Amino acid sequence: MKAKDYRTTLEPVWCTGCGDFGVLKGLTQALVDLEIPPERLAVISGIGCSSRLPGYTRSYAFNSIHGRALPIATGLKLSRPEITTLVVGGDGDGFSIGLGHLPHAIRRDVDITYTVLDNGIYGLTKGQSSPTTEIDFKRSRGLAGPDERPLNPVLLVLSTGCGFVARSHAGNLPHLREMIREAIRYPGFSFVHVLAGCVTYQTPSYGQEIYQRCDVLPQGYDSSNLTAAIEAARSDRFQLGILYRRDPKIGTEGAVEMAGVAGVWKAHAGTDRGIEDVAHEE
Ligand code: SF4
Repeated sequence: MKAKDYRTTLEPVWCTGCGDFGVLKGLTQALVDLEIPPERLAVISGIGCSSRLPGYTRSYAFNSIHGRALPIATGLKLSRPEITTLVVGGDGDGFSIGLGHLPHAIRRDVDITYTVLDNGIYGLTKGQSSPTTEIDFKRSRGLAGPDERPLNPVLLVLSTGCGFVARSHAGNLPHLREMIREAIRYPGFSFVHVLAGCVTYQTPSYGQEIYQRCDVLPQGYDSSNLTAAIEAARSDRFQLGILYRRDPKIGTEGAVEMAGVAGVWKAHAGTDRGIEDVAHEE
């Protein structure tokens, strides 16, 4: 199949130049690489500009409830494990109303790939600041509300025990394709943070400006090193690449490591129980 074979006949209604186009392209290219049949694929979203993406993807698709894509996708994957299950959405949907679901999806470690298209603003509702809006930008645009420090999505998911964490940019298609492909390949919960521009409510050149603040992780970077991943996540610049990939065989024992770093994932630390055992107990 070709990338266009994963597209529906619906034409995207995104603004010309929106970063979401790049993510749709990168995602469909990754699906080509993995040769996933559309009848074995589901794309679930919440609400927002980027959450329109399932409508443009030839798959089972659900443009669902604001902030609730992760629990819906979890239910789908548990009942139909043969379906490759992807979640897409924006920074507002995922890190504001939907944030409560994220750490729980991570600790359940169900095999879902969650791609967040982060443009640092609410686009669909016409330009309010989101949990990732930078204070300088908010002030320069005179957006209402208090100055609040932006949330660091990559640090957040690392600190809650995510086994696969990658970052890319919507304008770097080969890189984005690879990150989404490897995330889907990972046999557990995987997270891809995509920096994407909103040409209408950011500046038209915002996507390029953000790209100037990105570095691709250097050759030899050890993605199994959690401490290195946390350092990369805390960098002033956006580090692109697979920041962290825990050996899937470690499973929930990875909690031992996480508990030492973040102190938030202690419930099953030191045990060798798999996620299925935990699910049956609950
Ligand atoms: Fe994209 Fe922004 Fe337009 Fe929404 S408002 S479609 S995020 S450019």
